[in-house]
Amino acid sequence: MSSSDATRVRDLMVVGGDVVVVWADGHESYFPGEPLRRACTCAECKGEGHLFGRATLPVVKQLRPEAFVPVAAALVGNYGLQVTWGDGHGYGIYTLAELRAACPCAACRAGAAPAG
Ligand SMILES: [Zn+2]
Ligand SMILES: [Zn+2]
Repeated sequence: MSSSDATRVRDLMVVGGDVVVVWADGHESYFPGEPLRRACTCAECKGEGHLFGRATLPVVKQLRPEAFVPVAAALVGNYGLQVTWGDGHGYGIYTLAELRAACPCAACRAGAAPAG
């Protein structure tokens, strides 16, 4: 099998509160909405902090519950995945390689190399 099959998407859907990716190698990944949203890499979610520059709070945005509910997912080119959330947010693009590496299933977690 080619390694690129692991980061190519065969099917993509939103099931309940999960974004489900079926990879070209047949593996399925279920990404729960909340950690996925928290991992959003867009400038807004990264919390540049310019609005609260003097605050002592860490840059954690207050998000309403619907912000963690994926409503749609779409491929961006052949490298990325864009998720639209219940609060209308949809700027973040997750790269497929990162998603595959972050697959939360037991098999992938067991096979993951220890950090560092
Ligand atoms: Zn974002
Ligand atoms: Zn997995």
